[in-house]
Amino acid sequence: MSGTGRPHGMQAMVLTAPRRPLSLQHLPIPVPAPGQVRLRVLACAVCRTDLHVIDGDLPDPALPLVPGHEVVGLIDAVGEGVTLAVGQRVGVPWLGWTCGTCAYCRADAENLCPAARFTGYTLPGGYADYLVADARYCFVLPEGPDAAHAAPLLCAGLIGYRALRLAGVAQRLGFYGFGAAAHLLTQLARWQGRQIYAFTRPGDASAQAFARELGACWAGDSAQAPPQPLDAAILFAPVGALVPAALAAVRPGGAVVCAGIHMSEIPAFPYRLLWQERQLRSVANLTRRDGEAFLALASQVPVRSTVTCYPLAAANQALEDLRTGRLHGAAVLLPTPAGRPAVS
Ligand SMILES: [Zn+2]
Ligand SMILES: [Zn+2]
Repeated sequence: MSGTGRPHGMQAMVLTAPRRPLSLQHLPIPVPAPGQVRLRVLACAVCRTDLHVIDGDLPDPALPLVPGHEVVGLIDAVGEGVTLAVGQRVGVPWLGWTCGTCAYCRADAENLCPAARFTGYTLPGGYADYLVADARYCFVLPEGPDAAHAAPLLCAGLIGYRALRLAGVAQRLGFYGFGAAAHLLTQLARWQGRQIYAFTRPGDASAQAFARELGACWAGDSAQAPPQPLDAAILFAPVGALVPAALAAVRPGGAVVCAGIHMSEIPAFPYRLLWQERQLRSVANLTRRDGEAFLALASQVPVRSTVTCYPLAAANQALEDLRTGRLHGAAVLLPTPAGRPAVS
């Protein structure tokens, strides 16, 4: 490995057991193995999936775990055989490693690789001052928004984009849950000439106003019917009861795409909601190709994120604010400034 000298320790927020607050810990700075890069983390956005990992909704996290999979950092050391260079700015997404040989990997569906490993879940994540990552899964982020504003693009943007792709050529598009993903995707979809219908928690007038500011042509409560049938709907909120509501809102032949990794139970619903060739499908993870396509589009639009920044040590507060819907756009953690001595 080669790189610049750094302090020996770093701060990280660590999950030691499900359903427990993260604890601030002093850990050794990781050393990149062959094929890996080490990043000095500049920003890490907080994703709803982090809540699912912490709440124990997803099986077998690699405990003790540093969460976080929307990481922007500067490469400060590289392992053997890496073509990325020290000083490059890169993003580390949820997809951290795939086998490269299974039928899914060979068929451009690495997002479904059964052996895949995920940043901040089965691999260490970015709620830390430093992170090592497989160089092949990092995205180079040469220009564009600062780290805090670029971080939410790496999951909210990227997996949101995959959901948008799977929703097809819908002109009238509904977003259920107007959080980090929807606020980015609204900008992209408007740029593509689509109309956005935003559905929020009942009575959340401030989220509805935020959606209109970003160009939604209609915003209302998730229990409301849209003024006219939708061509497709994407569910960002992990609420199973929204599935029949969204099916009822889309026209014959329309699609409902569930974009979350976890969802509360879907209640039984009459077949007539699915009848007439409506489709119901999910989105899982991302491929590197999704990432490259989305990041190129995002700078073309350009997609601008609205962020609320927290110091790394306030990760539990950021997670709670995300859970209660207290913030607009995305929460972003900022680590210890470079050069400042870590906790001892
Ligand atoms: Zn595979
Ligand atoms: Zn995520």
